[in-house]
Amino acid sequence: MEKKVLVKLENVSKSFGSVEVIKNISLDIYEGEFLTLLGPSGCGKTTILRMISGLDDVTTGKVYIDDKDMTNVDATKREVNTIFQNLALFPKMTTKENISFGLKMKKVDKAEIDKRVDEVIKLVKLQGFEDRYPSELSGGQQQRVAIARSIIMNPKVLLLDESLCSLDLKLKKDMQIELKRLQKKLGITFIYVTHAQDEALSMSDRIAIINNGAIEQLDTPSNIYKYPKTLFVADFIGEANIINAKVLEVGDNEIKVSMLQDHVVDIKADSIFEKNQELKLVIRPENVRISKNELANGIKGSINDITYSGDSTKLLVNIPGSIDIKVCINDDNKYVYNDEVYVKFDSNYIIPLRK
Ligand code: ATP
Repeated sequence: MEKKVLVKLENVSKSFGSVEVIKNISLDIYEGEFLTLLGPSGCGKTTILRMISGLDDVTTGKVYIDDKDMTNVDATKREVNTIFQNLALFPKMTTKENISFGLKMKKVDKAEIDKRVDEVIKLVKLQGFEDRYPSELSGGQQQRVAIARSIIMNPKVLLLDESLCSLDLKLKKDMQIELKRLQKKLGITFIYVTHAQDEALSMSDRIAIINNGAIEQLDTPSNIYKYPKTLFVADFIGEANIINAKVLEVGDNEIKVSMLQDHVVDIKADSIFEKNQELKLVIRPENVRISKNELANGIKGSINDITYSGDSTKLLVNIPGSIDIKVCINDDNKYVYNDEVYVKFDSNYIIPLRK
């Protein structure tokens, strides 16, 4: 079935004074999708969200919601709800009062309000906390009140700006699962802004990587991780070894390159590279093979650093005269500092990128 586009940005730019902070962005967001805008601080994520909600005007371009041109429509008339980073709960209202506030303003019948409040309280698992004030709730519970207060209005689109960033790690992980569960259950389109790659990777259907006011790559989490299209994306998402290389020979779907002091490898390459062209190779640390025994066509080095992180161990391997290679292993760490080792790159996992 054809997916329906619910939010459409068409050639949208935004300038504050003479500074253009959003540069001609076009983006289709589908109905029921969990789309994340991910990028470093100041890249323009919040500005994009504010233009969708109507809190900021666009400088040029169009914003469509559900096929209607909303570009010049007031924020209050858009079927969009925003959860801000600071949650903005009313401190002198209880959970129930906070959640019912929007419907009361809309003069919805009291019995109907009570019914819907009960429903959403169950949905976000806040039973027993109905009569507490925000100051009597934990960070995660306050988060749930903010979510309940938004979803009770049945928005077509829910915009979430760095919503989980103030929570501690464990709670953040729990809320990531909760948010995704809720989103799938309700079928509301979520547009989520974050600079935290783990949140983006774990919750999203698709991620738009934003850099300096433009979209670098728009894809599923796994494609973004496995097939970054630019160095910025490769470096921003996950850990990566980024290695200088030079093309020696060009085949049909393969190129022969030299890297790390004349080490030669064949790699798959769809895009067109030319002989003698300089390029960068991206290799994820978990795709580097490492052994104390000599590996055919391996590169000799020594262990320079070891970082244990519970489920995996990160090693830095020093290759004389070249950069350190990051390696990630899951099995028990059998290495110590200064161990002599061999590393090897599997050609299937080397991503060639233009400089
Ligand atoms: P963060 O993750 O730090 O919140 P962001 O990616 O959400 O950052 P924005 O808040 O969208 O970034 O800001 C993008 C750029 O626009 C920044 O350089 C910021 O300084 C600038 N900017 C945002 N709002 C205004 C404003 N009202 N006036 C002038 N410049 C602004």
